[in-house]
Amino acid sequence: MTDLSAEKRFSDIEHNLDAIREKIFKAATDAGRNPDEVRLMAVTKTVEPIFINHALKNGISLIGENKVQEFLSKKPYLDLEGCEAHLIGHLQTNKVKQIVSEVSMIESLDSLKLAREISKRSTEKGLVTPCLVEVNIGMEESKTGLELSALEELLCAVAELEGIRVEGLMTIPPICDDEKELNKYFSQMHKIFVDIKDKKLDNINMNVLSMGMSSDFEAAVRNGSTLVRVGSSIFGPRIY
Ligand SMILES: *Cc1c(COP(=O)(O)O)cnc(C)c1O
Repeated sequence: MTDLSAEKRFSDIEHNLDAIREKIFKAATDAGRNPDEVRLMAVTKTVEPIFINHALKNGISLIGENKVQEFLSKKPYLDLEGCEAHLIGHLQTNKVKQIVSEVSMIESLDSLKLAREISKRSTEKGLVTPCLVEVNIGMEESKTGLELSALEELLCAVAELEGIRVEGLMTIPPICDDEKELNKYFSQMHKIFVDIKDKKLDNINMNVLSMGMSSDFEAAVRNGSTLVRVGSSIFGPRIY
């Protein structure tokens, strides 16, 4: 497998990681933020373990996978020592049992039904599963994520459950070319994040604001993101 094309992809990954880190540093400092407040997640869906391991060797300490099955089948081949994995894709309640304890965070909590299942399965295993609530900030019908109007009610309900702890919010804004429009979504998310944090709700932490992907992570960082989820800009275009 270490043929020439693999060697080329290895060096591309190294180069891409350097470039992304530099961009995060610049976006953060331009916005008057401490760049250390922003974590870089490598999104590894469809990526083969050999390339994921190369990113891990080059300083990546957080990966994100979308699908329970894909992650569990790749996991035995990953050098995850010192690395965290988050589930970032939509999670069906019938998959919760398999993923709890396998990831250190579920970023796609979007219903009370799902929260109850995470709570139940985590409690059975004597665990507390950290979660982010995924907010559908663009109110797109096609998208997963919770409507903004339902956020506070969900938080209050989840706060009562054992075995689950909210650590912050995640969002995927609508696809838009317009930088102003994008900034509007990101700054709105940041404002919600800060507002909830200020309310100091019992059992609800607001430590993580997960927003920004390959096409928009710099704008997200300028608007207060603490975790950017970058896939194709690290590993190249995905081949399904
Ligand atoms: C695929 C994915 C990403 C990364 O997307 P890129 O555009 O490849 O950086 C980030 N977040 C979620 C939830 C994803 O599904």
